[in-house]
Amino acid sequence: MLYQRSSSLFAAAEQVIPGGVNSPVRAFKGVGGTPIFVERAKGAYLYDVDGNRLIDYINSWGPMILGHAYEPVVDAVISKAKLGTSFGMPTEIETQIASLALSMIPNADKIRFVNSGTEACMSAIRLARGFTGRAKIVKFAGCYHGHSDSFLIQAGSGAITFGTPNSPGVTQGTAQDTLLADFNDLDSVKKLFEANPNQIAAIIVEPVAGNMGCVPPLAGFLEGLRAICTAHNSLLIFDEVMTGFRLAAGGVQELYNIKADITCFGKVIGGGLPVGAFAARNEIMNFLAPVGPVYQAGTLSGNPLAMAAGLAMLTAISSDKTLFARLDEKTAYLEVGIRNVLNKYTLPFTINRVGSMISVHFSEQPVIDFATAKAGDNETFKKFFHGLLNEGVYIAPSAYETWFITDALTYEDLDFTISAIDRVVATL
Ligand SMILES: *Cc1c(COP(=O)(O)O)cnc(C)c1O
Repeated sequence: MLYQRSSSLFAAAEQVIPGGVNSPVRAFKGVGGTPIFVERAKGAYLYDVDGNRLIDYINSWGPMILGHAYEPVVDAVISKAKLGTSFGMPTEIETQIASLALSMIPNADKIRFVNSGTEACMSAIRLARGFTGRAKIVKFAGCYHGHSDSFLIQAGSGAITFGTPNSPGVTQGTAQDTLLADFNDLDSVKKLFEANPNQIAAIIVEPVAGNMGCVPPLAGFLEGLRAICTAHNSLLIFDEVMTGFRLAAGGVQELYNIKADITCFGKVIGGGLPVGAFAARNEIMNFLAPVGPVYQAGTLSGNPLAMAAGLAMLTAISSDKTLFARLDEKTAYLEVGIRNVLNKYTLPFTINRVGSMISVHFSEQPVIDFATAKAGDNETFKKFFHGLLNEGVYIAPSAYETWFITDALTYEDLDFTISAIDRVVATL
């Protein structure tokens, strides 16, 4: 395939946008080469500016669970746009989407809409801190909760109780309130609670991790977090920005029957427009302004176009009783197909999957946390990525990303993908 026009558009973008992109992973730094500029998309396919068609396994990093340019969403946005695109005043559609979302989300009485997953997580920890009167939070290495300061933290060597910032610009003062634990390791969490008595406001976790590849919780891990939070009067925050409305209508809380205190959303909830949200029971949500003292606001929050897209998306999801079973079947079919292909070769590999989230790791050992996710062979991944791209199959340009399966994929698309993987791996 040729990417001449993409390359020249990227060169032009680099002149005026840092790195040519508005979000770093798009720049192909993890795999080399230059990014592909997309012109349009429909269903399971992307069409780039050079006229190539690609089968899409990223789907805007999750939102396009029903395929690109899904007509009910597009129609809802167009008809709303004609009535005005922003008012900074209440609109009825905000109540409609809130009611529908709350009918799907377990264990929540109220929901507040924001403009991104980052905002949702940032606001959720402020709320947890305001509610508990405590300063510290626990997060897990390899879990991503957006780019607000408190979350850009990594363990410094030997520092078990204090995080060190892993981005310049995040102050030590902020970093010291973020405690870092290991995913799937309850002991690492217990130690933090012992070392910081009555100081931890909340644990925030991706209940099925998706930002180090797909890493499912081991049996008992989420239950253990729930029990620790309950015992210490801390809040359990599920960051379901990726998993919400994707793994089940009620997300991981429904899938594994675990109650979080605050749940964060993004991606699917906006149907492809910039939307995030967080939800909890009344007792907690009543701490938010204007009812309570914890401030949180947004000029474009609850924007009518975004709400129209989200409402059309959630309506489609809630009225389709076989959607999640269908997605699971398609992704299982892909998993088995990839497994059968890779088994023909000597390449070490691990495939992780929960529902329509799946990741292929070029590593022998089970991938259960950030350390084991990092053990994958990046050089092999780069060749795998570019090989698939050349076959017209677009997976995320990073070894640490989950593939997001869309219902628009047909079994022919999946068969084509599996045979493309066979052709690519044969050359590795
Ligand atoms: C994508 C993501 C975020 C951040 O959402 P943005 O809309 O990119 O700000 C937060 N948490 C998780 C789990 C995510 O996957």
